[in-house]
Amino acid sequence: MRNFDGRVAVITGAASGIGLALCKAFYAQGMKLVMADIEKDALDKAVSLLSKDPDRVVGVLCDVSDADSVDNLAKAALESFGAVHLVCNNAGVVTGGPSWEQTHEQWEWVLGVNLWGVINGIRSFVPILLEQDEAHIVNTASMAGLVALPMATPYTVTKHAVVGLSESLLLELEIIGSTIGVSVLCPGWVKTSLVDAQRNKPAYVRTDTSQEVGAFTEHARDLMQTLIGNGMDPDTVAGQVVDAVSNGRFWIHTHQEMKGAISARFKRCVESENPQLALEGLVGGNI
Ligand code: NAD
Repeated sequence: MRNFDGRVAVITGAASGIGLALCKAFYAQGMKLVMADIEKDALDKAVSLLSKDPDRVVGVLCDVSDADSVDNLAKAALESFGAVHLVCNNAGVVTGGPSWEQTHEQWEWVLGVNLWGVINGIRSFVPILLEQDEAHIVNTASMAGLVALPMATPYTVTKHAVVGLSESLLLELEIIGSTIGVSVLCPGWVKTSLVDAQRNKPAYVRTDTSQEVGAFTEHARDLMQTLIGNGMDPDTVAGQVVDAVSNGRFWIHTHQEMKGAISARFKRCVESENPQLALEGLVGGNI
């Protein structure tokens, strides 16, 4: 996608972190923005931080895990600006701890936001993007979509799925002769509020409070807090996304130093070697 000026971007998870940085970056390129998030106060604040001009920026309350809510987001975008050219399916949440001790509701929540959120975005927006002269979709996955991240298994499951979904979508669009671009964003650690994802946890999500689970979960959380707290500036990530969209690049690897971990994983895969707990490339000396 070459022309940003006056075009319309819809960004989910827009009230914080990477989503907010994407909004700032695409706004600076002259785009109109539909900022979508589940957290109302943070969304209102983010919208007014960017612009008070409703001809440039609107905020829409949306739960990406809910198909109707994402359909309504698409309707609101068309009502506001008459078209959509760029969609960033970015909203995400995480839980920590051993996979077998995550409650059914925790699994549902993480899969709902991180995977169904992207699926809903594709179902609601691709038909609209197909009507434009140029358009692009960015799906936020993670390094955890390319390398397993133990103690965050529901998260790993969803991010692997988003990588496969994005790759398959790109090929489908090529098969039908569409020029819609697709990118998959695979960041390493980025300094955001992701560790506090439970602030948006729906009421139905039950967490297990047994002592043992608590200890594991606390360790996973502390480690993630350290890594994210020392992570990359989200504005740097957003700059890389703008560059990938304008150059039609699919893979967005934000942390070059982590690529060795990806190669090692896939080398073990093709050579039929068992997975290894080799986290150094991902967590440095933090484990
Ligand atoms: P963040 O918590 O700062 O931002 C996430 C945003 O998503 C928040 O504004 C939150 O309100 C919103 N959100 C949560 N549930 C939602 C829902 N159901 N519907 C709509 N919005 C919802 O975290 P972030 O790190 O900026 O996360 C953005 C994306 O980046 C996520 O997909 C995350 O998995 C991914 N990611 C983050 C990192 C990192 O280190 N921070 C690394 C790799 C990938």
